[in-house]
Amino acid sequence: MSNQLVIENVNKQFGAVQVVKHVNLSIPEGKLVCFLGPSGCGKTTLLRMIAGLETPTSGRLTMAGKDLTNVPACERDFGMVFQSLALFPHMSVAGNIAYPLRLRKVDKQSQAKRVDELLQLIQLPHMANRPVAQLSGGQRQRVAIARALASAPKLLLLDEPLSALDAKLREAMQVEIRLLQQRLGITTIMVTHDQREAMTMADVIVVMEQGWIAQIGSPLEVYRDPVNEFVADFIGLGNILPAVPNGDRRVRLAGGQQIDISGSRKISDGQEIRLLIRPEDVCLKISEAAGHKDLQSSIRNDNNNCVSGQVSFIRDVGSSLEATIDCSGFSLTVATSPREVPGLAIGSQVLATLPPHACKLIDASPGRLAA
Ligand code: ATP
Repeated sequence: MSNQLVIENVNKQFGAVQVVKHVNLSIPEGKLVCFLGPSGCGKTTLLRMIAGLETPTSGRLTMAGKDLTNVPACERDFGMVFQSLALFPHMSVAGNIAYPLRLRKVDKQSQAKRVDELLQLIQLPHMANRPVAQLSGGQRQRVAIARALASAPKLLLLDEPLSALDAKLREAMQVEIRLLQQRLGITTIMVTHDQREAMTMADVIVVMEQGWIAQIGSPLEVYRDPVNEFVADFIGLGNILPAVPNGDRRVRLAGGQQIDISGSRKISDGQEIRLLIRPEDVCLKISEAAGHKDLQSSIRNDNNNCVSGQVSFIRDVGSSLEATIDCSGFSLTVATSPREVPGLAIGSQVLATLPPHACKLIDASPGRLAA
């Protein structure tokens, strides 16, 4: 029978405050699912309810059809890695990994065999006897994961496991954990507030906002097709521009520019919308027109989805650059490179093309997945 974890209409209240609201979710087997959202949106509380460290105020959790809601944490067969790692500092690497097996009274020989396997898996076989206090941050991280995997859990739960590491090591560990998870095929849920981390590691991202699930999708889906402004803004850099519908597939931007969009979207009367375009989708070129004023008038009449503007800031990160373009009524962020737009500098007059297929209409109000 499938070991799918199903969360049904789960709510959690602390006193008068409801911090998890009507969560419905199925965790696909063998996949890595990230709970992603800003601080305080309820992702850790949801993970702790899955772990059995908190009890839902209402709703239920099942696995393989069995009700887990009131099953104590120690009987759930889940492995967990906390932000703090919670390793025993003076115990050896092997001692830490064996700890859950000792608790379960696994015989000594089986313990030693399993610890050896796990030390190979995390590539630290030569460090079995070293106290964990003498390990680097990344090595400690691997030991914590090995300990969580020791009793072959059905589910691996990771609560911001990389947040204490510096940026470079963190990125290396993201890849390492992802490869390990795929190799073992272990269903994993990870909490993070870092969208890049979620995009790098997850099969499925669950975006949370104030206790609600705002969107569930693959990294590409949530990036390319966010359901609302909150998700669009949280997942990566985006230009989110106030827009007014003007006909079936056309909107008017704040400076009066008319922009065609290719996808149709039903908009109700009075609904506030935004136009989303990602910085890498904007095509930039330096304008050859003489004066800014002339440009403005020529562009307003242009049907090629072009807007004119002036570069007000450039963030140069070597291989690529990010330019801020002040247009009439709004600013645009554009990702480009010196090779694509040679000579681009602060003060350059530019034309920015917003290709219709890359222009998405999104809801300005928060959207919630229905209970
Ligand atoms: P972070 O990324 O900062 O850890 P989070 O999204 O994981 O945030 P939670 O830790 O789940 O958020 O907390 C959600 C809300 O519930 C917060 O407002 C928090 O203060 C509150 N909260 C969490 N645990 C408790 C508790 N035991 N008692 C009272 N309030 C709590």
